[in-house]
Amino acid sequence: MSTPLPIPGLEIDPPSQLAWPDKLLSNNNTDVCRRTGEPDQPRVFTWTLPAWVVQLTSGKFFNTCPQAGVCGGPLCYAVAPGSSYRRLPNVLAAHVRNLELVLGEPQEWERRMKAELRGRRYQGPNVWVRIHDAGDFWSDAYLLSWLRIARSAPHVRFYCYTKAISRFLRLVKPDQPANFLWCASLGGKEDHLVDREHMRHADVFPTVEALESAGYSDQSASDLLAVLGDQRVGIPANRGTAKKFGASFGELQRQRDEQLRAKNARARQRAALAAA
Ligand code: SF4
Repeated sequence: MSTPLPIPGLEIDPPSQLAWPDKLLSNNNTDVCRRTGEPDQPRVFTWTLPAWVVQLTSGKFFNTCPQAGVCGGPLCYAVAPGSSYRRLPNVLAAHVRNLELVLGEPQEWERRMKAELRGRRYQGPNVWVRIHDAGDFWSDAYLLSWLRIARSAPHVRFYCYTKAISRFLRLVKPDQPANFLWCASLGGKEDHLVDREHMRHADVFPTVEALESAGYSDQSASDLLAVLGDQRVGIPANRGTAKKFGASFGELQRQRDEQLRAKNARARQRAALAAA
């Protein structure tokens, strides 16, 4: 076994018993991935973490989405009450286990992921790994692990959404593996770094009509359209959360950022007056 690396900002107790599953990736080969325009039916495998702030088995809390903005909390599809991610205890437990494997033994986790991807299950013409149904790239070290994994498996394509925009611009964009595709996701603290004219990005809208009238393309037919289709990716909110907001995540975040800027400006003004 490798020696666990310390995770900056997290004091995790050394895991006493990490239960490594037979397979790290789940098979998510649903037919929602049919309409991608690719000749072969895609086979999509998924790596998932728990969303947002989660309690580890040690009792400590960990945030897998530190750049989440308005998308965090009740608007998150994976956190909303009724979501299968939270409603089904075994689903959440499996996601927490995944997180603890990475936190507890990151080198061993990376080694096992690379070895798994060399297996027969991942051979073939159109194999994909979706990194995260929920959760995000919370640290440089974790993102760099995925880049090494992608480079070790050129026969597989990897894709993800992320709100860790500055991290991706710094670590991925300068030397992006050809089989590692990503889509910036609006609704986070780093939305201001998303160049909406030139960068592939996704926004969540209350309805299909709302996303179309904003000039986005509905990716409902296939999640792979997030990286294979139009650069302006529109995601209709799921039924559980759609009624909770009247604007897109990007617009809600813009409003929140605006309020924060105004509040900070008032505070600076008061401080200047007090100092005068
Ligand atoms: S980044 Fe995704 S998983 Fe995390 S809180 Fe936002 S919507 Fe949920």
